[in-house]
Amino acid sequence: MAKDNTLQPYSRSVNDGNVTARSWLSYLLFFALFVCLGNDLCAQSNTKSFRVFTKREGNTTRFFVENFEAAEITATFEMDLENLTGSTNFPYTTTFPANKISEAFTVWPSKPEAPWNYSYTTHYTMGSSVAIHDSKQVYLLPFEAGETYRLTQGYNGSYSHTGPDQFALDFRMPVGTAVHAARGGMVVKVKTDSSSGGGDRKYQNQANYILVRHSDGTLANYAHLKKDGAIVKVGQMIEAGDLIGFSGNTGFSSGPHLHFSVFKTKNGSQRQTVPVKFRTSDAFAVTLTEGKNYTCAATAMALSKPARSSPVVSDTRSAAAGRP
Ligand SMILES: [Zn+2]
Repeated sequence: MAKDNTLQPYSRSVNDGNVTARSWLSYLLFFALFVCLGNDLCAQSNTKSFRVFTKREGNTTRFFVENFEAAEITATFEMDLENLTGSTNFPYTTTFPANKISEAFTVWPSKPEAPWNYSYTTHYTMGSSVAIHDSKQVYLLPFEAGETYRLTQGYNGSYSHTGPDQFALDFRMPVGTAVHAARGGMVVKVKTDSSSGGGDRKYQNQANYILVRHSDGTLANYAHLKKDGAIVKVGQMIEAGDLIGFSGNTGFSSGPHLHFSVFKTKNGSQRQTVPVKFRTSDAFAVTLTEGKNYTCAATAMALSKPARSSPVVSDTRSAAAGRP
């Protein structure tokens, strides 16, 4: 059974300490804590994903965020406020658009003459909390047309596909197997610098992966790729069926496999995978079952529903191309 931990969020805590109305200049103390909660999406430690900054206007403090990622980021702010009123309730969760500065909220003194202070922690993770998965969307299997692989862990897989990973899929395949896009979209995050992995939690930050943003705002995660195992770049538009990379065994993984899931975010530290249906060589829209072998349908055929006049012909041709 595949073990992995690709869907834990990463978070960053930022504390802006003890700012008081009377002496905020001298007390201004800013420090950032980078807290990667043990997951592979933390990996780009040299690349900033997100920052929080404030602007003072009199006694009012405006909070802004800058999202450096190519997809939405969902953040949750936990605030400790003393003699301060916020423009929103806390904890506050919201989604910020890609590559942009956005205003988050404002705080101001409840009693204008009294001292005030605040501190806060922000957790964030890539993905949108307001995305609604297009339930009519049918996915291709994430490998080459005609190829067959076994689904070693399916939805609700007891080994590791529980909680936020409930609707993730593991396909057993040798290292170096071609990984193809299950659905079109924009590549929004790529990590391929890791060469380590294994069935130990110490590897959980080491998985390589590709994230693809779909038009409905959900993200697809293709994980455990081999080192340098991506042939796509952030910002690139891809179609279903396109070759995007090569599988591997990086990260927290008990054996070579591809972990695939589609997710939105719940809040700054939790994702929510969504169930999706697949076009296989012999079914148009099926929920995959753990332990079964599946053959990827030919791309051109899979992109549209089979015509009524010839669905059986198309299916038969594709199935015949598959390996036993
Ligand atoms: Zn998995």
